[in-house]
Amino acid sequence: MNVGVQLGIINGVAQSEVTRETYWGISSTGYALFYLLTVITIAVFVYGVYQRFSRYTEGEDDPFARLDDLPRRIVTAAKIALSNEQNFDRDLYAGLMHSFILWGFLTLLIATSILAFDDYAYNLLVGGSFWVGDFYLAYQFMVDAMGLLFVVGIGMALYRRYWVRNERLWGRHTSNEDDIFIWTLFGLGVGGFALEGLRIYATGMPDHEVVSFVGYGLAMVLGAVNLPLAGEPGMNLAAGVTGENLHWLAWWSHSLLAFFFIAWIPYAKPFHMLSSFANVVARDEQAGKRLPNVPADLDATNAESIDDFTWKELLDQDACTKCGRCSAVCPAKASGRPLDPRNVILDLKQYREQLDAGGEEHAIVADGGTSAIDAETMESCMACMACMDACPVEIEHLQSFTRLNRQLTDQGDVAPSMQDVFQNVMQNGNTFGNSPRNRADWADDLEFELTDARNEQVDYLWYVGDYPSYDDRNKRVARSLATILQAADVSFGILFEDEKYDGNDIRRVGEEFLYVELAGHHVETFEDCAFDTIVCTDPHSYNTFANEYPEVDFEEFADDPMMPFDYDEQWNADGAIDVLHWTQAIEELVADGRLDLDGTELDYTVTYHDPCHLGRYNDEYEAPRDLIRATGCELVEMPRNREDSFCCGGGGGGLWMDFEEEPKPSEERLREALEDTTAGSGVEKFVVACPMCMTMYEDGRKTGGYEDAIEIVDIAELLVEAIGADAQAKLGVTAD
Ligand code: SF4
Ligand code: SF4
Repeated sequence: MNVGVQLGIINGVAQSEVTRETYWGISSTGYALFYLLTVITIAVFVYGVYQRFSRYTEGEDDPFARLDDLPRRIVTAAKIALSNEQNFDRDLYAGLMHSFILWGFLTLLIATSILAFDDYAYNLLVGGSFWVGDFYLAYQFMVDAMGLLFVVGIGMALYRRYWVRNERLWGRHTSNEDDIFIWTLFGLGVGGFALEGLRIYATGMPDHEVVSFVGYGLAMVLGAVNLPLAGEPGMNLAAGVTGENLHWLAWWSHSLLAFFFIAWIPYAKPFHMLSSFANVVARDEQAGKRLPNVPADLDATNAESIDDFTWKELLDQDACTKCGRCSAVCPAKASGRPLDPRNVILDLKQYREQLDAGGEEHAIVADGGTSAIDAETMESCMACMACMDACPVEIEHLQSFTRLNRQLTDQGDVAPSMQDVFQNVMQNGNTFGNSPRNRADWADDLEFELTDARNEQVDYLWYVGDYPSYDDRNKRVARSLATILQAADVSFGILFEDEKYDGNDIRRVGEEFLYVELAGHHVETFEDCAFDTIVCTDPHSYNTFANEYPEVDFEEFADDPMMPFDYDEQWNADGAIDVLHWTQAIEELVADGRLDLDGTELDYTVTYHDPCHLGRYNDEYEAPRDLIRATGCELVEMPRNREDSFCCGGGGGGLWMDFEEEPKPSEERLREALEDTTAGSGVEKFVVACPMCMTMYEDGRKTGGYEDAIEIVDIAELLVEAIGADAQAKLGVTAD
C-alpha cells in the first residue's frame, strides 16, 4: 500500500482514534516502578547539577561582567549553539555531525516534554488528550525524522572516532566516559526506533502509524520474518520470542538506559550539554585581547590554590568537550613544544576534582616536579589565541593561562632570557637593554626631520615600538613607514626617548606590575601631547593601547609608592582617542589618493601572513590586503589565512625564548607559502605587517633553508617600492 493510500485511510479514520497508548504493554506494577525510577533519576540529576554549580560559587569573582544583560546573552548563546557555527568552522563533517545530534536530541527532548505535559497537565486540568489526530501524526513524523537525523549524527561520530580514529579526538584525557557517552546515545537512538517498530508490529500495524516511517519500516521487517505477535500458553523459551515480549524487553531496556543517562549527565562528559551552554552565555566577547587587570591588592594570589581561579575559569574546565579543536590548531603543539591547550584545561579540572575528592594539595604550576601544570608548558604558549578562536564552547584559555603565567612570574620560575627582558625593560624601558637616548637613532638616515610630538601638535602620534627602533631589519621598516607618512603629507610625530616598550607581551608572560608601570608612563606621556590619533607600527602595541590601557584604573594604584602616577583615572575609557594599526591609517590615505598609486606599480606574486594581534585579536584582515593590492602585487592566500592564521612563534614571549622545535612555526609557515598556495614556489615575497613576525620569519628563512626561495618584506617596504625609487631618493630612504 503506498503512502498516499495510507494517508487516505488515515483521513477516513476518526481523529480520536489516531493516537496510541503511551504505556502499551506495561503492567500497573511496571508503571509504578517506572515512576519510582523517574523520581530517583531526577533527584540524582538535580543533586549533581546543584553540586556542580555550587562548586563554581567557591571560585573567585570574575573581573569582567559575565551575566549582565542576561536575556541578550541567552538569545545570542542559543543562536550560537543552535547554528553550530563554531562546529562548522574548518570542519564541515563535524558541523553536520554535531548539528544532527543536537537538533535530533533537542527534538526528542521536546517531544518527550510535550507528551509529559499532555499526560500530567492537560489531561488533569482539561481532561482528555491533544495528542490525537493531525497533531499526533505531525508529532510522530517529526520525531521519526529528527530521530533518524540523530542516529545518523551518532553514526558519523562513531565512524570518525573509531573507524577513522581522528587524531584530535584522542588525547591524554580520553577515557571510558567518552565511549560510554557516545554508545549510550547510540543505544538510545537505535533502541528508540526498535521499540517503536516492535510496538507498531505488536499492535497490529495500525495504518496511521505509517507516518512513523522508520518504526513502520522496522515493523514491516518483523512481519517479513514472521515474528509471532504473542505467545501461546505452554510455549518453550524460543517460542517466547514474540513481538509483545520483545516490546516489553525493549521498553524496559530503553527506559533504564534513559534513566542511567539522565542521572549520569551531571557527573561526566554529558554535563557539557549544560555547562558549555552556560559558558557561551557567560563569555567575554573581548576575551584574550584584553586580559584581566592586575589586582592592586598585593596580597592577592594568582594560581597558588585552585580557589584562586574565578568561577568562570572553573566553568571553562567543565565545559570542555575534549573535541581537540584547540590542540589541532595550536602552533606550539604543532612545533613540538610541550603544550596542548586542551590538556592544560583538563589537567586543571582533574586536579580540582582530585582535591575535592580529598586528594593531596600541591603546586598548580611550577618548574618540574609534581605540579599540575609544568612551567615549560606555559612558557610554550605564544598567546596567539588560535585555541580560543577554534573552541566551539568559548573556553577562554588565555584567561587561565595568564593566571598561571602570573603565578610563575611571582615564583620566579621564568626562563633566564625572559628575566633579562624584564630587567632590560625595568632599567632602560626597552626589551633590548639599549639606551633610551638611542631610541630614535633609526631616523638618522632619513633626510627629513621627524616631528617631536611632545612639543608640537600632530594629527598622528606615531608609536614606533621597540623592534622598529632598535632592531636593524625592522629599522628599515620604520624608515619605510616614515617615508610613506611623509609622502602622504600628513602631520605626524614620535615620542623619541619618552617612548618605552608597550608591555603587551611581558603582560602575557605574567609580568603585570611592570606592565602597569609602562602603561602609566605612556598614558601620562599621551596626556601631555596634542594629537588626534595614535598610530602603531606593531600590532602588539596596537592591541594593548586599544584594548588594555583603557582598562587600567590608575586610581587603584594611588596608594602604591611603586606606582607614582600623576594620572589617576582610566585612560580613554570612552574610546574618544582613536588607536590604529598603521595599515588602517595608511589604507585611508591610499583610498584618498594621497600616495598617487594606480595599482600597477609592482608585479610581484606575494602571500600575506595575518599577524595574530591584528587579525584574530582585532579582526583587521582587509586593510593590509587592500594596501598590498594597491601596489599592483598579485596576492595569493595561504590555506591558513585570516582568523585561521598560524602564529609565527614570536608571541607570548616566544621571541625571547629558545625552544626545541621541529619544525619551527616560522619554517612551517614558509613551507605553507611555497607549497600550499595556488602559486606554489612562484610566491616571491612573504609579506608581513608586524615587526615580531619580521624577526621570526627572517630567522625561519635562514634556519629552514628558504633564503633563496622567498623574501620577507613588510607591507611598508612594498608601498615604498611602489611609490617609486625617485620618491625614495627624494625623501632620503636608504636601502639599509
Ligand atoms: S594561544 Fe596559541 S600557542 Fe597558546 S595554547 Fe592557544 S593556540 Fe596554543
Ligand atoms: S578547550 Fe574547547 S576546543 Fe579545546 S578540547 Fe575543550 S572544547 Fe574542544
